[in-house]
Amino acid sequence: MTHIPEQTDDKPRFSFEFFPTKTPQGEEKLREVHRQLAALQPDFFSVTYGAGGSTRDGTRHIVEAIHQAGSAVAPHLSFGGSSEADILTLLNDYKAMGIARLVALRGDIPSGTGATSSYYYANELVEFVRRHTGEHFHIEVACYPEIHPKSESYDSDLHFFKKKVDAGANGAITQYFYNADAYFYYAERCQDLGIGIPIVPGIMPITNYANLARFSANCGAEIPRWIRQRLQAYGDDADSIRDFGIEVVSQLCDALLDGGAPGLHFYTMNQSGPVSAIWHNLGLSAR
Ligand code: FAD
Repeated sequence: MTHIPEQTDDKPRFSFEFFPTKTPQGEEKLREVHRQLAALQPDFFSVTYGAGGSTRDGTRHIVEAIHQAGSAVAPHLSFGGSSEADILTLLNDYKAMGIARLVALRGDIPSGTGATSSYYYANELVEFVRRHTGEHFHIEVACYPEIHPKSESYDSDLHFFKKKVDAGANGAITQYFYNADAYFYYAERCQDLGIGIPIVPGIMPITNYANLARFSANCGAEIPRWIRQRLQAYGDDADSIRDFGIEVVSQLCDALLDGGAPGLHFYTMNQSGPVSAIWHNLGLSAR
């Protein structure tokens, strides 16, 4: 098994991602999911930011609630169509709130808007945050072991990832994948380029085949044929899909941690069940 040398942190780091909810009922449910997952003592939670800033207030609201409940939390942030002044206000709000970590992204562009903002790419957002807030925030950025779907080539995507690191990113979280070799190969190429920040695998539990297939097609994540075949064969049998998903994803996480990955970031989809089961399988409860 390949080992990833020279990560800056040697203690594995675990984080759980939420997306903002739209209704009071959804928020109450999310607070309960947060309570359940906080009991696992992750290093931090993160909250996504909708395309073009569409969830700006929702993200800020959930971030504040998680922070007040006593958990470390990292808001996701992107320029989208927002002005510099708006983004600066949000950064200062987060700073005043006591938030110390951000996930800086270009964000998905809402269709029909075009690339209007002058701060469009994630490396430019990282530069902006550093210029205005110095070293206050620990900045995470995104990266893509199976390569961003709009990238010209493998090498160009690596090149642009390095620009984010050179701009001041402290860590990276990957797009999800189900093939550990893609991650290890990518981590080695990053190392060849002198990228020394921790590259934490993003983990997507499997709970619903149709949603996973649609989402994966959009974000360029490959579902290996054998996994696809099994999931398709289960049809509407949600229990079998859940059990198979937990088994496959637990094995993936095990292989990643065994091979030297510096932690795991779970895309929880605002559910505690699958993540808790995987956590238990990995024997992390006792950490
Ligand atoms: P960038 O790093 O800016 O890259 C975007 C594309 O442009 C890549 O193909 C890259 O190779 C290329 N590129 C980069 N810099 C340049 C440059 N200077 N010149 C030319 N080309 C360049 N989306 C959301 O909307 N909200 C979220 O909260 C969110 N959270 C995410 C969290 C994680 C961990 C991940 C992996 C993804 C997340 N996404 C989110 C999705 C993400 O916004 C999309 O994948 C988006 O298309 C790219 O964002 P980025 O920050 O990686 O972009």
